[in-house]
Amino acid sequence: MTKPPPLADAIAAEMSVGDRCYHDAQRCAGHPCPFHAPSDHKMATWPRNLRASGLTERICAHGIGHPDPDSLAWMERIGLHGYEMHGCDGCCGG
Ligand SMILES: [Zn+2]
Ligand SMILES: [Zn+2]
Ligand SMILES: [Zn+2]
Repeated sequence: MTKPPPLADAIAAEMSVGDRCYHDAQRCAGHPCPFHAPSDHKMATWPRNLRASGLTERICAHGIGHPDPDSLAWMERIGLHGYEMHGCDGCCGG
């Protein structure tokens, strides 16, 4: 009897290989996604970092992680709120 691994395990496994996506493209079909369909925002070309929470952040030139707006929208859609909070150095703001 096989069952899919818990989400946290799946995330951790993918985190170990760096800038990788842990979800299937079908899960974000029709929506902006930091991995499959980045929207047009200033951080779209920055390195990605997948947080243990499932949020994808973008790393600015100073090594600070900023929540990817497409990932934030996805978190909101699945009912996880409050992830816009971060220690910001101003790079993701307008
Ligand atoms: Zn996706
Ligand atoms: Zn910065
Ligand atoms: Zn920021």
